[in-house]
Amino acid sequence: MNYKAYLVESGKRMLHKGLTVETWGNLSVQDPETGLVYLTPSAMPYDSISEDDVVVMREDGTLVEGTRKPTVECGMHLGILRSRPGIHAVIHTHPIYSLVFAVQHRDIPPIIDEAAQIFGGTVHTAEYALPGSAELAENVQKALGPNGMACLLANHGAVCLGKDMEQAFRVCTVLEMTAQVYQMALTTGTPQQISQQNVDYMKDFMEHHYGQGK
Ligand SMILES: [Zn+2]
Repeated sequence: MNYKAYLVESGKRMLHKGLTVETWGNLSVQDPETGLVYLTPSAMPYDSISEDDVVVMREDGTLVEGTRKPTVECGMHLGILRSRPGIHAVIHTHPIYSLVFAVQHRDIPPIIDEAAQIFGGTVHTAEYALPGSAELAENVQKALGPNGMACLLANHGAVCLGKDMEQAFRVCTVLEMTAQVYQMALTTGTPQQISQQNVDYMKDFMEHHYGQGK
C-alpha cells in the first residue's frame, strides 16, 4: 500500500467531512509490517498537501523521510502508537459537537447503540494542556486508558484511534454523531443511558461477531 497517498487522501477526507477547519487537526497512519509512521506536516492546508510533504518516522521519533516539519502533535501520535500495539491510525480532529462538551470538560456517555458498540463505555475528556505539549500527550493517554478508542481534549478537540485508518474514521464519525445527539437530547429532555450490561454485550458482539463471515 502507498501509505503516503493514503495519508494525503485521509487529510482531505477529514477536512471535507467537517471534522476540522482550515489547517487544524492532524493524522498518522502506521504500516504494521515495517512499523513506519506517516504523519501530516504542520500547518499546511489539507487540499495542498502532496505525498512529498508527508513526514515518515519510526515510533521512537527518528526521522526516516521528509523535508517538512511534522504536526505539532507528533509526540501525542507516536506515544499512542507506541503504547497500543493493535492501533495503527490516529486522527486528531476539531469537530463542533464534540467541542461543545470538550469546552465544558464533560464526558460523553454511551447513549446510542453505535457509541456502545464502538467505545464500550464513556468517552472521557483529557485535562487541558497546551497544544503540542508533552503534558497534553500524557493527559490524552490517561483519558484513553488501556483500551479507549477515543477521547476529547479539553477546549481543543478529539482524538480517535483505529486498527487502520478506516476504523479511525468510523470512530470519528460515531463520536461526533453521539455528541450531536447528546447535545440535542440535553436541550430537549433527559437522555437515558444504555445499561453497562448491554453496552458490554454490544462491544463484544462488534469485536467478535459483527460482519460477514464472523
Ligand atoms: Zn488540535
